[in-house]
Amino acid sequence: MLVLKFGGTSVANAGAIRQLISILQEKQNPRMLVVVSAMSKVTDMLISLYQKAASHDVSYLELLSQLEAKHMEAIEDLVPMSQQIDIKGRIKMIFRELEDVCRGVYLLDELSDSTKARVMAYGERLSSAIVSVAFQHHGLPNELVDSRDYIVTDNTYLNAKVNLKATYGLMQEQLPKVELIVAPGFISRSQDGKTTVLGRGGSDYTASLYAAALQADLLEIWSDVDGMYTTDPRKASAAYSIEELSYEEAMELAYFGAKVLYPPTIAPLVAAKIPLVLKNTFNPAHKGTLISSTPAPSPQNVKGISCIDHMAVLTVSGSGMVGVPGVAMRLFKAVAQECINIYFITQSSSEQSITIGLSEAEGEKAVQAITQEFADDIAQELLNPVSLETPMSIVAIVGNGMIKQPGIAGKAFSLLGDNGINIRAIAQGATERIISVVLNSPDAHRAVNLLHDRFFLPISEDSEVALA
Ligand code: ASP
Ligand code: MG
Repeated sequence: MLVLKFGGTSVANAGAIRQLISILQEKQNPRMLVVVSAMSKVTDMLISLYQKAASHDVSYLELLSQLEAKHMEAIEDLVPMSQQIDIKGRIKMIFRELEDVCRGVYLLDELSDSTKARVMAYGERLSSAIVSVAFQHHGLPNELVDSRDYIVTDNTYLNAKVNLKATYGLMQEQLPKVELIVAPGFISRSQDGKTTVLGRGGSDYTASLYAAALQADLLEIWSDVDGMYTTDPRKASAAYSIEELSYEEAMELAYFGAKVLYPPTIAPLVAAKIPLVLKNTFNPAHKGTLISSTPAPSPQNVKGISCIDHMAVLTVSGSGMVGVPGVAMRLFKAVAQECINIYFITQSSSEQSITIGLSEAEGEKAVQAITQEFADDIAQELLNPVSLETPMSIVAIVGNGMIKQPGIAGKAFSLLGDNGINIRAIAQGATERIISVVLNSPDAHRAVNLLHDRFFLPISEDSEVALA
């Protein structure tokens, strides 16, 4: 079994879908399952559709017809004229249903997360229906399934948590036993039958769930770049595609900003040891990046440098923290209750301060929650008022080769120091696979370039030593 996932740009229009078809036609695998994202930009358009409807802006109708035209155009290009009636009728029906939902939002002023998920789900429902029909007409008979019938989640509609056991059970028992299955990514269903979605970018995760359940030999994720890069090529032009990574390295790089892969995707693959390859639909000859439990040994200690911008650094400090158990627990609980994700934690060893990194957009909310939790301590001046600094960036250096390899952190820090870049906070996990530093955002771009040159230039000090 081979599972393949094609992202939004790979199904963006008829031309891209043709490219996808030619990739599939080359495959010899006896069984394949293809997961697709919504056509590129469609999820964003659906979000603005419900926003417009909810704010009584009738131009939602215009947006709706734009969306319909975009999908119809692809059909007209991919399906012979005489065969278009059936699929066009189905797509029209889906659009009338969507129009009804939007009219409801417009009239009732009701926009729950459940309704948002329901609207967002149309993107993948439409793209998968079109891709499936396009396959039929290009010699790829297949069966279209609805991933909502297989992926069971909780009621966190927009970022639903998957019940793995129930999901794997359904996939193993009830997926059709055919050579080629087409399935929408991103969409799922709660136990009580409501449409949910897996979070932005979640189609990668859908594919990895299918791969794990079906014990696939390989998962291929096709996008519009040649795999995972040593760093963001928009930040450092010398960046290049990495040939092989371990699951852990890929997870760290994905988590710290490499946009090619939705971070939760790796977890289901690890236990089943299913390798994952990241490929470029528009450059299929390129090897891409192979992610597995047994990456080939690499002379490169550092595999990648990632950077997340738009971060905030929040610090809780004060003498009242020293030797008092439970401060960290209360801090993290206050933040967790607001569903705020923490990217970064450091605590000074004197226990005088704890610093966390979080997204800039959630900074104020976190300050309020923590200030409320520690109101008494702040009033008694045991703690200082919570401090928040923006805009910050987290730059992370990732690589299994850093484990038990002294000097890498030192090299990185002195390089930044020598170049007048101030490091605001540092964290290194005990796994030694990642070192992350917090910098003022205006310095981040330069820091990434300096570090990339230092660790990835062809003749670095390390390779000279190796040669000698
Ligand atoms: N269409 C969804 C999004 O844009 C899911 C995906 O593309 O992976 O977030
Ligand atoms: Mg994606």
